Amino acid sequence: MKLHMHSNRRSMAAPAFTLVELLVVIAIIGVLVGLLLPAVQAARASARRSQCANNMRQVGLAMGLFCEAHKGRFPETSHNDANDEQLSWIYTVAPFMESVDAVRICPDDAKGAERLRARLSSYVMNVYLTDEGGPGLVTNRNKLQATSKTLALFEIADSKAAIIENDHVHNQAWFTLSNIAARRVFQWIEGDMATRRHAEGTHLLYADWRVEFVPATTIESWATTQSQTDNFCLPK
Ligand SMILES: [Zn+2]
Ligand SMILES: [Zn+2]
Repeated sequence: MKLHMHSNRRSMAAPAFTLVELLVVIAIIGVLVGLLLPAVQAARASARRSQCANNMRQVGLAMGLFCEAHKGRFPETSHNDANDEQLSWIYTVAPFMESVDAVRICPDDAKGAERLRARLSSYVMNVYLTDEGGPGLVTNRNKLQATSKTLALFEIADSKAAIIENDHVHNQAWFTLSNIAARRVFQWIEGDMATRRHAEGTHLLYADWRVEFVPATTIESWATTQSQTDNFCLPK
């Protein structure tokens, strides 16, 4: 009789989990989420980075087709294009790709949404491929000696506003004698280029339409060792 009462009370009163057990389970779930979250974030960042590289590759292929259709000439930016000053350079190559809107914005561009609305791009041309470039410019791809060593496109800095003038930047002003003397070339580069956009690095497109991921430290070393007449911006 006594035994029966005891077992009966036990089955009525004892919950499946005690409060302490529940708290332990919640704590374990919390730790697991904490462990997994950085991995999930890293996977997403890596997906955005490869999407950016794919974007650049597609824009590069369109640039290549544009050049072929124009006897080798590279596209112009809003600076020199008298035909349509309200149109950013990316639309010059739009007819040569399936969907310009799908590829003109880097998913990690802080001003991506604004640039999308303003019909701009996260990718800007090396100014030395345009008439605005100054000494050393080469505006025709057929006149390049080494397309694989000639910078075509890079990622515009977050600090650059989403306005039509910023469909290009003035990278001919990076390796000036005064900037080199003051050791501020990299500072100027960072004002125009998103050197740390993806995992402390950025994408560069070369005129053979190859995309390279380059760490910011590499660009900084170029900035501190290269000269006005021999640097990574000058067409080769
Ligand atoms: Zn300009
Ligand atoms: Zn990017």
